[in-house]
Amino acid sequence: MIYPIVKFGDPVLEKPAATVTSFDDDLKKLIADMFESMYAARGVGLAAPQIGISKRIAVVDVTFKEDPGAKLVLVNPEIVGKEGRQRGSEGCLSIPEFREEVSRAKVVTVRAQDEAGNFFEHTGEDLLARAFLHESDHLNGKLYISHISALKRDLIKRKIKKMMKAGEW
Ligand SMILES: [Zn+2]
Repeated sequence: MIYPIVKFGDPVLEKPAATVTSFDDDLKKLIADMFESMYAARGVGLAAPQIGISKRIAVVDVTFKEDPGAKLVLVNPEIVGKEGRQRGSEGCLSIPEFREEVSRAKVVTVRAQDEAGNFFEHTGEDLLARAFLHESDHLNGKLYISHISALKRDLIKRKIKKMMKAGEW
């Protein structure tokens, strides 16, 4: 099932998501739906609050279907290591049509559970490192625009408000 993507302005995007405690068939179904919804929206990462579900679950595939082995499920993820620095353009499915330069760590290690509840650690570089940070931010109610200057952030918010008024958001 493809869920619509929740956009900026919905409070679910700005509150911390709940820890997942039951690793059942409903969770597996939700994760499958999240991949489907992410691909349909042409994204490389999706956090559950972005489909209106305030749970600590994210899916990532920075290869966008090219490498089935690159599909990652992060349940209750925690960032446990960060190294180096990268600057690059970043966007978000919940803030469509905007992109900004965001400085992030270059190498990031995440500790998470898989859909069966098994703990694992995964280290990613470059785009994958960026995805780990971006998605785990989502689960803490934080959006990438919190990492840009207040000036740029206010400009984006003003444009979004205009679009909301015009019924274009
Ligand atoms: Zn996002």
